[in-house]
Amino acid sequence: MTKSLILVVEDDMPIRNLICTTLKAHNYRYVTAEKGETAILEASSHNPEIILLDLGLPDFDGVDVIRKIRSWSNVPIIVISARTEDSDKIEALDAGADDYLTKPFSVEELLARLRATQRRLAIGQNGDLHTDSVFVNGKLKVDYAAGCAFLDGEELHLTPSEYKLLCLLSKNAGKVLTHTYITQQIWGRSWENDVASLRVFMATLRKKIEKEPDSPQYIQTHIGVGYRMLRVE
Ligand code: CA
Repeated sequence: MTKSLILVVEDDMPIRNLICTTLKAHNYRYVTAEKGETAILEASSHNPEIILLDLGLPDFDGVDVIRKIRSWSNVPIIVISARTEDSDKIEALDAGADDYLTKPFSVEELLARLRATQRRLAIGQNGDLHTDSVFVNGKLKVDYAAGCAFLDGEELHLTPSEYKLLCLLSKNAGKVLTHTYITQQIWGRSWENDVASLRVFMATLRKKIEKEPDSPQYIQTHIGVGYRMLRVE
């Protein structure tokens, strides 16, 4: 098996070294960049499998790096941010980032995100997530063609908004979707009221698909940011 190549974009040397040492110890190959400009060059010349991207770079904002890379590539981008403000994460996710890690993060956390992203890539290759007519995740099944969903073989009685929400999350399983993105996809707009409505629909959807809605198995909440459908083994 060829080792996966990771592009590490981080200007802070101790953190860059920690990431690279971790990658090396876990059988990944890596290339590094300390600036946004080099990051874009490295991304286009090395075609990495995953990009780890610090948002605070010396030349330009990490979000602009995401926008530039997204203009030609769908490579998964995991943002690494020292900023605790949710708005930065949201901006990065809306620009096309797939996931985020907040500094300080543990080595285990970093490896878990990489593994989750690789699983998502593998599923995308073995069956296209976006064109398959049936989505299966644990006991949950969504039949896009028939327009219905099942849990443990039982058909779920979902409202049109709940069903749309479930489809959107399942088609993007593994990815964090922001409140703005979700409401725009479902209602074609994103007003403050829509985010409140989204919470309500999420609560009712969870009651229908989660065994324990208070400790959800399928849909993870990212407080102040959005939601993600997790892959269930
Ligand atoms: Ca930095």
